[in-house]
Amino acid sequence: MPKIAYLNSKYIRFNSAKVHIEDRGLQFSDSVYEVVSFYNKKLIDFDFHTKRLKYSLKELKINFLFKRHNLKNIFHKLVNLNNIKNGIIYLQITRGVQPRDHVYLDNLKPNVIIYARNKKFHYPKNNFKGETAITYADLRWKRRDIKTVSLLPNILAKKEAAKKNAYEAILVDNNKITEATCSNVWIVKNNKLITHPSNSDILKGITRETLKKIINKNQLILKEISFTKKELYNADEVFITSASSFVTPIIKIDSKPINKGKIGNISLQLATLYSRLFLDE
Ligand code: PLP
Repeated sequence: MPKIAYLNSKYIRFNSAKVHIEDRGLQFSDSVYEVVSFYNKKLIDFDFHTKRLKYSLKELKINFLFKRHNLKNIFHKLVNLNNIKNGIIYLQITRGVQPRDHVYLDNLKPNVIIYARNKKFHYPKNNFKGETAITYADLRWKRRDIKTVSLLPNILAKKEAAKKNAYEAILVDNNKITEATCSNVWIVKNNKLITHPSNSDILKGITRETLKKIINKNQLILKEISFTKKELYNADEVFITSASSFVTPIIKIDSKPINKGKIGNISLQLATLYSRLFLDE
């Protein structure tokens, strides 16, 4: 368990960190969040995460202004106070507290919650294996580009996956694959990569953006187009990306093996290249 958390400018014992019962994040999920990984105490893609955080805050008109370097200092301090080498930082900003009302008041004081937890990451050279997934209906709202804590459809889907001993639930909207409960989904067909375009139907994953650069640099072909459940089942390879799962190959979906149940070459290549960004060689 973490020892120290950050709550509204104070570093306090994790167990004593509390927010008000009329916090709008609690009552309306009126709140945004970010998850940033760190490896050997080094933050991964910090600048991209803060950029997306600014976007989420702006889209929901939550008044929280921050300086990037101040946030970075808080993250580093939490990593050090809790003495964690590899893990994730969870940051959540709620709109603030007011007597319960759907109409939010302007200029509320946001609650700022930040803490670090250790995590063992999954990457080539570290017991790298393929995972399984299920497909599940995408029941979410129409602004999935905003990283809000409104995650009920995601947690219901992920629980179904867990019940079936699967790692992820891949979400299907109108027979199109959008993404997964907490990761973006990619397929490989005839050596070409395909992933859903970044519009309001998906979260524009930070790992997705970083991987796009790697793909470009390595002269691989990427198409950002939507694909069907049938195309998913018939893909040569499938993998998911997220800040905490990095690049994770999927080798079985529902009862269908992908690439005969083995990690594909392109998935392995991309997982390796991605992990080189932060692994000490
Ligand atoms: N899609 C959803 C719905 C997510 O919740 C996440 C991460 O939590 C992602 C995609 C991957 O985003 P990132 O690479 O920024 O972690």
